[in-house]
Amino acid sequence: MSSLIWAEVLAQLEKSVSRPNFVTWLKPASFIESKDGLVIIGVPNHYAKSWIEQNAVKDIIKYLSEHLGSVESVKIEVVSDEGSKSLDDLPLLQSEAESIPVASPAEELVEEEPVNDFSNSFRDKYTFETFIVGNNNRLAFAASQAVAEKPGFAYNPLFIYGGVGLGKTHLMHAIGNDISRKNPKKKIIYTSCEIFTSEFIQALQTKNINSFKNKYRQADVFLIDDIQFLANKEGTQEEFFHTFNMLHQANKQIVITSDRVPKEMNNLEERLISRFGWGMIADVQSPNFENRVAILQEKSKERDAEVSSEVCEFIATTITSNVRELEGSLTKLITAAQIEKAEITTAFAARVLKDLLSTSAPNVTTKKVIQAVAQYFSIETSDLLGKKRIKELVYPRQLVMYFLREKLSQSFPQIGDALGGKDHTTVMHGVKKIVALKKISPEVEQDINAIQQLFN
Ligand code: ADP
Ligand code: MG
Repeated sequence: MSSLIWAEVLAQLEKSVSRPNFVTWLKPASFIESKDGLVIIGVPNHYAKSWIEQNAVKDIIKYLSEHLGSVESVKIEVVSDEGSKSLDDLPLLQSEAESIPVASPAEELVEEEPVNDFSNSFRDKYTFETFIVGNNNRLAFAASQAVAEKPGFAYNPLFIYGGVGLGKTHLMHAIGNDISRKNPKKKIIYTSCEIFTSEFIQALQTKNINSFKNKYRQADVFLIDDIQFLANKEGTQEEFFHTFNMLHQANKQIVITSDRVPKEMNNLEERLISRFGWGMIADVQSPNFENRVAILQEKSKERDAEVSSEVCEFIATTITSNVRELEGSLTKLITAAQIEKAEITTAFAARVLKDLLSTSAPNVTTKKVIQAVAQYFSIETSDLLGKKRIKELVYPRQLVMYFLREKLSQSFPQIGDALGGKDHTTVMHGVKKIVALKKISPEVEQDINAIQQLFN
């Protein structure tokens, strides 16, 4: 076991928790020692220890076991700065931390991965009931419900797209949960594009391609998350294409999520892009203020925590980026309140979230992006937002469009409004242009990096 393995485990964890949670609690954790199935992880303070013990130990064991074979328990120890420098010298039983007993790997395997590999390991919490519906996601929600109601018949494929942390994975698990509840015999496969790719590569290496093919082609319902990662992977695209065709022809339900619409997916074969549009394409957008408050209320209820509407409103005003960050902030607040045995007042929230905002989530706003671009090109913001159609303004405007889309996950019409009433097709064209230029022009890439420095 080395810190390299820990780095890989961290990378896996990063995908399963919200960004603020990852940055605040997991990133500072370091590997200390591994002995007889016990792994010791060092963290800088008791808050981190408590958060990890409550929220991440199970995943840590799971991921460590993938690399190390059998890990029975993990112990989280608080180490001082000096301590973490001389990791190897720390005695095994030095801290007051107790190890957390878990099911042995064999038991876990039975519970979570039945032999046929249709484990239906959907997150319990991700159901239709816990999903807050608003104008921002109504269509995607209704389409998901329709698909769960009649898999293979309603819309096939269902393609859900939208910015990070806006509920795509939640909806996908909700579909899986719903179908497997009503129909426990259905073979439902949930996978991410990254897992699909790495399994495919592994199958090639171990010459097991047939069992790979069979596994996916047996599915009654195939849920594949974050398909954008298929870009540039020709071999996997080819394999996915065949899987798609087989399942689709057999009327098996396919659900796909992506961070963008099919036609914006660069480096993806045309035949795949066109198939993505065969069924229904539905988007999820950022929630508005009222939805953010409703989500916070739902999430505090799920956690049995009392958070007043005043505090929910305060958080909803402070954190506007996406639901994942919203949820991460709430978790942080509740954990901090438990540890400090404090009442969650607005003042308490302001203090706790101030730390969060300054350390992990740069508060990028539309205004900051526009100012940064104007400053970089030494032009007036009024010109940038105005109607003058001169060449010197076109490129900076397109950069603004690009940043608002990529960094703030705004919709094309929203970006059009921010730029003084541009048509959404102009915005789409602008974003596409920069994405394309960025790939071929080092100068453009440099401009992008330099401007980012200005608004981050
Ligand atoms: P994505 O896959 O789009 O990046 P996720 O589905 O992982 O986003 O959502 C991030 C977090 O936000 C999850 O914990 C999810 O439960 C929550 N979430 C997102 N949208 C909603 C919603 N409309 N109602 C309730 N929770 C939501
Ligand atoms: Mg997701």
